[in-house]
Amino acid sequence: MRDEVKANVGGVVHISTVDWHGKVAHVIFFRGCPFRCVYCQNYKILEGENYVSLDELMRGVRDAKFLADAVVFSGGEPLMQFSAVFELARLVREEGLLVAVQTNGFYPGRLEKLLKEKLLDKVFIDVKAPLDDEKYERITGVKGAAARVRESLEVLRREGADFEAVTTVFRGLVAESEVRKIALELKEIFGRCTHVIQQGRPELAMSEELRREKALSRSEILELARVAAAFGLEVKIRTKEHGEEVFNLV
Ligand code: SF4
Repeated sequence: MRDEVKANVGGVVHISTVDWHGKVAHVIFFRGCPFRCVYCQNYKILEGENYVSLDELMRGVRDAKFLADAVVFSGGEPLMQFSAVFELARLVREEGLLVAVQTNGFYPGRLEKLLKEKLLDKVFIDVKAPLDDEKYERITGVKGAAARVRESLEVLRREGADFEAVTTVFRGLVAESEVRKIALELKEIFGRCTHVIQQGRPELAMSEELRREKALSRSEILELARVAAAFGLEVKIRTKEHGEEVFNLV
């Protein structure tokens, strides 16, 4: 009775080449999120209702299949709608496509269940701030968020998941000292992993105060990449100007 589970959807991007670099992906954006990040760009889908049957979503997946290698669950926070995501991941698998999730790390148990069921090929997990920092609460508006993200990272380590940790950087909010601490924490948990330093877009942020800030430039982000790479991490940067690039420490 698949139709009984519906997904509250904020939108679908039929074909994307930017959500999973190197793959052509069909992207489903789930509404709702437990966080209210000051820099959220998708704040219009944090609330509201637009319930869509899984059958309808799967019709979109099948239409995209002649071009797409993968389906990416994004949001909002997809794991907030766990039943729908779990069932969709299973159905996407049956179509022979890869599955990825972009998550804020707030639901370690749900992430673990998907990984144990071998329903995820890739995880993009936000590491928004140092995990021992009240800044996590300042950014997300949620007390105890950092501990849950840490637990999600531990799940990724235990399950040997293919993942990328994504830090979105903003002048005066998440910059050099935060990137240094995050990179150290990632090194302590994983030894080596991929850390993506992503250029924040203040002009799209939910917070009016942040909208007045200037985005960090690509050269400033390269400096942050150098900081993370010094910990032996594989570092990528993402900027509006150049898209995703692998950073080489020379
Ligand atoms: S976790 Fe992502 S979707 Fe949720 S509020 Fe933060 S930036 Fe927005």
